[in-house]
Amino acid sequence: MRKKRPTWRVANWQIRAEAALRAVAPDLRGWPVYLVPRSALIGTAVDCLCGEGIGWHHPSYDIVLRPVLSLMGLWLGRGFACIIDDVAIRERAQRVSFAAQRFSDECLGVAAHELAHGLVTSIGVAGLFDSPEADADELAPLGAFLHSATAPLEPDPDEVPWVGHGAPFLRAAAHLRLRLARFDRSWDPSHLGSGGFLYALSEAAAYDAALGPELERTSAPISEILASPPPPAFEALFEEDDARFRRRRPTTAIQER
Ligand SMILES: [Zn+2]
Repeated sequence: MRKKRPTWRVANWQIRAEAALRAVAPDLRGWPVYLVPRSALIGTAVDCLCGEGIGWHHPSYDIVLRPVLSLMGLWLGRGFACIIDDVAIRERAQRVSFAAQRFSDECLGVAAHELAHGLVTSIGVAGLFDSPEADADELAPLGAFLHSATAPLEPDPDEVPWVGHGAPFLRAAAHLRLRLARFDRSWDPSHLGSGGFLYALSEAAAYDAALGPELERTSAPISEILASPPPPAFEALFEEDDARFRRRRPTTAIQER
């Protein structure tokens, strides 16, 4: 009897999220998209990539996840990959009404948040997906990468609450949020987290307003827009947020002493 291969049923939320992201981000044209549910990684070595949060992206995640994706028969070559904590999101969604819809909406929001990271760090900008297949050289540093990804980080005194979620991320997220809200009017754009209290920044709506007419370039690849300088009002808003945070921080440090 043939040994049964493990199977991974692609869930409805993955199909919906990938279709929506492809519809709004021409940047993904020609690239595989791997929206990997955390539930598929439990018990595997790569589950250690998941720290705090409900979604994770790194430009090398496609390579890191390749063994798992290959085992499931889903590896199609290099592309955008992120991990989404479907377990935590499902648990949270079950506390509200219309749980199934809420779950799917949140998963799309998290996938879009991770894609905003991808647009800033890997797609079209850094050209990291140039090679269609990961080669041996790329796979060699995997062990070191896994180690660095899981090693406890030293607290950085210069670290800001928006680390990794600054101006380029806010800009990518704004484009994705608006495009997705127009593409799927049943989806609540607040599911794509960016800006606001959590990051000690102005609300996302203020950044959207500062981007102005740029947001209407809805058919352009987002990475192409990111490659051009942002509108001065957008830059000024981020600089104000940054300056306000830095003005307050020394006072806090003195009080703590
Ligand atoms: Zn993030």
